[in-house]
Amino acid sequence: MKKNPDGLKIPIEVPALLCAWYESHARALPFRETKDPYCVWLSEIMLQQTRMETVVPYYRRFLSAFPSVRALAEADENHVLKLWEGLGYYSRARNLQKAAKIVVTEHQGIFPADPAEIQKLPGIGAYTAGAVASLCYDLPTPAVDGNVLRVAARLLKIETPVDTTPMKYAITEALRKIYPPAGAGKCGIFTQSLMELGALVCLPNTEPLCEACPLKEICRAHKSGIAAELPFLSAKHPKKEEALTVLILSAGGRVAIRKREKKGLLSSLWEFPNVKGLLPPTAFPALLAGFGLKCGKPAADLEAVHVFTHIRWRMRAWLLPCAVQNKEKTPPDFVWATLEELSRVYALPTAFRKFLKLLG
Ligand code: SF4
Repeated sequence: MKKNPDGLKIPIEVPALLCAWYESHARALPFRETKDPYCVWLSEIMLQQTRMETVVPYYRRFLSAFPSVRALAEADENHVLKLWEGLGYYSRARNLQKAAKIVVTEHQGIFPADPAEIQKLPGIGAYTAGAVASLCYDLPTPAVDGNVLRVAARLLKIETPVDTTPMKYAITEALRKIYPPAGAGKCGIFTQSLMELGALVCLPNTEPLCEACPLKEICRAHKSGIAAELPFLSAKHPKKEEALTVLILSAGGRVAIRKREKKGLLSSLWEFPNVKGLLPPTAFPALLAGFGLKCGKPAADLEAVHVFTHIRWRMRAWLLPCAVQNKEKTPPDFVWATLEELSRVYALPTAFRKFLKLLG
């Protein structure tokens, strides 16, 4: 691997080229029709780790339930999590609500404009603070996400990993030097144009569409013919694997669910009861007797894998018709829910929703 030869200096013409391209190529998206920091913040948080097409309906539903930062601050946490159901990374939803409460109590319900203040809110890092400050307040604050890192890596032909903290900082500072001035109406457009170029033209994991790119005349990786080989990323640690037996306990048209712990993975969300390890069906009668339940033969089973950031769950779920035999032994945290309640009331993460098909 070579070092970037000239340091990180972004050509001065990049903002003008990208802003002009953006005006005629930007996708129409609901969160681009507003400069309300609450809406922009919400969309940026939803877009982290999540595809644009997935986010749009969630964004609309969330805003219609909680149209203001105050409404979100006052909402019931279960309702917030239910509206996040399926988006994953639920800490984003919990932090959104925590931050909304702080905006209401410490900032009189007005989202702060100072990027340093924005970044003090839970769940907001340099990227989101930069995006909100540039998009809503027209400040020259770069928002460097994976798309922007990729564009920078190729434009400058950076042949070292770009996802390290020092390199992210160097790219952010190089961008800051060429940002349009504050208050001239261009900062937000430039921020969006960089992200949009990464999403539509300077594509990941494939040949970028250089012939359609407004930067092709000044892009070093394109000129060297190595655009598709960049960016370099740091080696990732392998994910830990955990095996789970999931029990879909069905009795009288209802299924047992329980709330997860308040801390840790998928905290405060609902789950089907489960135990670590892959148990054989012969283990179920004794296990369920411990829950005060008598179970019949498994009616069906289904295997699934769910991948989180640091862990991979290998799951096998069993549909077990059962009857309550000893009410006193039934775990007090079990809730027997109908299918309708499961879909309307309880936030069941995707890792467990996969097994709803066992219930028909
Ligand atoms: S010319 Fe190609 S590699 Fe360079 S920024 Fe544009 S799309 Fe990316």
